[in-house]
Amino acid sequence: MSKDHARKRRARRTAQHTGSSYTSANAGTLHTHPAPTLVPVSGAPFGVAHTADMAAASAAIGAGLADCDPCRASAMARLMLGKSLVLAVLAASLPLVPNREFSTVTHVFWDEVQPHANHPYTYVFTAGLGAVERQNFLEDLISIWTMVVPHLGGGGRTLAGADLTSMIINLAPAPPPVYRASRTGFVPTPQGPFPALTLASPDMSGSIQELAERYGFPLYAWDTLPDASAWILQQHSATLHPWGVRQGEGSQSLTLGSAEHPAEATSEWIDAAQRASSVVVMGLWTGDFTSLIHAVQAQEIFAVRARLE
Ligand SMILES: [Zn+2]
Repeated sequence: MSKDHARKRRARRTAQHTGSSYTSANAGTLHTHPAPTLVPVSGAPFGVAHTADMAAASAAIGAGLADCDPCRASAMARLMLGKSLVLAVLAASLPLVPNREFSTVTHVFWDEVQPHANHPYTYVFTAGLGAVERQNFLEDLISIWTMVVPHLGGGGRTLAGADLTSMIINLAPAPPPVYRASRTGFVPTPQGPFPALTLASPDMSGSIQELAERYGFPLYAWDTLPDASAWILQQHSATLHPWGVRQGEGSQSLTLGSAEHPAEATSEWIDAAQRASSVVVMGLWTGDFTSLIHAVQAQEIFAVRARLE
């Protein structure tokens, strides 16, 4: 069924509402439909100072599940005029629903925005939509969550017969994985020893899969020098101790590492990094450089060559 067809059917169904619900909607007194509780979400991960009140989104989903068009339309109107942060929150963890027709804007989001898993970028995307795109995106967001919510019961059970009002859904985005600069040292290259920095994930939230797939780190081979990449080494402004790498600018930038946690570095290392205008940044590794070769041979180390700013 096409999107337009679905819209027409919905409109026709609305027109058929001649009973109390349509009348009460016109009078401004809507029903209370059972709906999942969507907890308020902080705007901080999205780079926004305010909090997302998800009540209208919850009402729209509840009305959708009850198939009550007047209540759904009322909640959708509130969402349409409300804060873009609410759309960003609904979009941030939006499940892919295959084999359904969605608007172009939703496909653009899935193809170009969501793979970056960058919440400020998601916010910029939703806040930048024109009225028609915003309407289409909102329609898809609420439709998708309405489809998905009944299947979110504990342990994978469906919610058939369960009390929706007792269902609390936390749509807050997962915190980004933690990476830290670990150690500085030198790795062998055909040109001689080259300065290198290892990255670790102390709380194990990061992984080599993520370094490879999300951040594009190539597999590292011993005694090679990777080509210079778009990554830029981040250093303490005074001590020049390295604390991580960054790629891109502004809301689309990715940073691995924390300025509060620089790695120790000798003056020899800092001088070598400056002479080479770059260092090899590799992960994940917490051990020293002498034992690194075994992990490299096991194909468990991924590395980029990061430029100095
Ligand atoms: Zn209703």
